[in-house]
Amino acid sequence: MFAAPVNRLITELARLPGIGQRTAQRLAFHILSASEEEALGLADAIREVKATVGHCDVCFNLATESTCRICQDERREAATICVVEQPSDVIPIERSGEFHGRYHVLGGALSPIDGVDPEDLKIAELYARVDAGGVREVVLATNPTTTGEATALHIAAALRERSPDVAVTRLASGLPVGADLEYADEVTLGKALVGRRAL
Ligand SMILES: [Zn+2]
Repeated sequence: MFAAPVNRLITELARLPGIGQRTAQRLAFHILSASEEEALGLADAIREVKATVGHCDVCFNLATESTCRICQDERREAATICVVEQPSDVIPIERSGEFHGRYHVLGGALSPIDGVDPEDLKIAELYARVDAGGVREVVLATNPTTTGEATALHIAAALRERSPDVAVTRLASGLPVGADLEYADEVTLGKALVGRRAL
C-alpha cells in the first residue's frame, strides 16, 4: 500500500509493545512529516542505547559500565537483595524510597508453557550471590501474576533448602493482582515493601 521504506517503518513500529497496526501507521506518518533533525534524533537515541547500555555483571540491571550505579553505591545495604523480573521493575521500587538494599534482575519469570525454565533466568546467579555470604534477606518482588508467583515460590523453596539462615520475604498483598510491578504506584509499592512477609 505504501512505499517499501514506509512499510518497513510501520512493520518495525508495530513490533513495539502496545502499538497496533493503526498506531504504527500514525507514528510512521508523524516521523515522515517531522524535521530531519527530530526523526534522526530518535534513530540516534535507539542506536546509542543499544551501543552503550548493557547489563550489570552482578545484578543484571541496566548498566553503562560493568556494574550498575546501585551496585557501585557503597551506601546500599548488601545484606538485602530485592529480586525483580525486569530492569524496568527497579524504577518503581526506587521511586517508592522504601528500599535501600541491592537488586537482582532475573530477566523474566518462570513459564514452562512458554519454554521459560530456571536455567533461562538469572536464578543460579542469585544463589551464587547468596552463597557468597553477607546476605540476610531476599525480597521476592516478582510480579503479582501467575508466572511471577510461581517464580517466587520456586526461588523461596530453593533458598529455604540451600540457605536456611537467609530470610525470604514477599511483597505484602495490596498490589493489583495480575498487573506488572511497573504499573504500581509508588505509595502502594512502598507499603507493600514495608509490609513484606516471610515466605
Ligand atoms: Zn548491579
